[in-house]
Amino acid sequence: MSTALNFLPIFLSLILIEYVVGRFKGRSLYSRTESGLSIGIALGQQLIRYLGLSLRAAMLFLLWEFKLFELPKDNIGYWVALFFSVEFTYYWFHRMSHEVRWFWANHSVHHSIEEMNILAAIRFGWTGWISGAFIFHAPLAIIGFHPVHIALMLGLNLAYQSWIHTTLIGKLPLIEGILNTPSAHRVHHASNADYLDRNHGGVTMIFDRVFGTYVEEREDTPVEFGLVKPAPSKNIFRVTLNEWIRMVADLRSSPIKHWPGYLFGPPGWAPDGQGITSKDLRDQYRLEHPNQVSPVKLDQSYT
Ligand SMILES: [Zn+2]
Ligand SMILES: [Zn+2]
Repeated sequence: MSTALNFLPIFLSLILIEYVVGRFKGRSLYSRTESGLSIGIALGQQLIRYLGLSLRAAMLFLLWEFKLFELPKDNIGYWVALFFSVEFTYYWFHRMSHEVRWFWANHSVHHSIEEMNILAAIRFGWTGWISGAFIFHAPLAIIGFHPVHIALMLGLNLAYQSWIHTTLIGKLPLIEGILNTPSAHRVHHASNADYLDRNHGGVTMIFDRVFGTYVEEREDTPVEFGLVKPAPSKNIFRVTLNEWIRMVADLRSSPIKHWPGYLFGPPGWAPDGQGITSKDLRDQYRLEHPNQVSPVKLDQSYT
């Protein structure tokens, strides 16, 4: 996300390579509307993020004061442990950003892109500091990882995710299902029912496999990028605030007893089972296509 801008030269080179290779292959990967929106949203987020960054830094340093362990920082084990710990908290941060509407309101902006390319890696919502999803990384400071090291590892994790937004790379046999790849991340960005809310890992797919959310891209199910319910216009404010606007509309038209569901239930939730959530869409798809669902359906956690 915004951290990708700290790696601007590499990031711009990747975009240039993707653009040139795309043209060479006769594919137009960058439309003016979507590219303009991605750049505009990224610039807006850069302006706003500093507010969130200082809040996050303050929270991490405060918690670090109460750390449980004095971790030795001068050995490789510390950094390996930090890498996997960040990967773990990132998995839950990201998964909850899909499964809880309050967090989805911000994260859905990243998924609003309908043409997948590396520019998508900087299209992130402006309201992360309001949603407070960063709280998922708080345990890292409590354990004893230094706040600066946490920020560094998170930055590297997000920078890694730049290249996985290209559609020019197919499956990568040796690392597919282990690391996060363009193919795995295409599935993550899909609005197809069978692919919804899958592959949440940052650098790896390890925790998706552990917790049953890993799904492989399938040739018989081409990915359709974008949101199940897209914003009604390409206006930059509507795209960035779309889910918040819908949430407020739901709250205004419902009694207070339904507010927790609308705020913290899954996206698409409505009272008395009237809504359509990702799980409903998946269940429906499985009924209609019993022979065309991902193998992970056999896993109980695939619900
Ligand atoms: Zn996501
Ligand atoms: Zn993405």
